[in-house]
Amino acid sequence: MKPKEMKKNIKRPPTAAGRRVPQRTCVACREVKAKRDLVRLVRTPQGDIEMDATGKKEGRGAYLCPRRECLEKALKSKQLENVLKCRFTAASQERLMKNGQELLKELSGKSQ
Ligand SMILES: [Zn+2]
Repeated sequence: MKPKEMKKNIKRPPTAAGRRVPQRTCVACREVKAKRDLVRLVRTPQGDIEMDATGKKEGRGAYLCPRRECLEKALKSKQLENVLKCRFTAASQERLMKNGQELLKELSGKSQ
């Protein structure tokens, strides 16, 4: 009886060899997207919320589509508060909405 041939040395096509893309869920619409296609929001140690354009800030993070609807929905429906486990004051909510919209404008200006 012949030993079973082990197919060890099959070369994978280079197209399939790409790295796995990290994925995250938008807190507003629950769509799963590539991490780089989402905007990160982070809770700072001071309990404030910041837009994290670099995605590298420390703290509890939440991800959102770079869309105005998702930003508004996440803020108004308290989904962002739930995910980040904190409460927004009216002032910080307003600031976040403003900052968010500026960032979104910037992002949409860059791509396409
Ligand atoms: Zn979304």
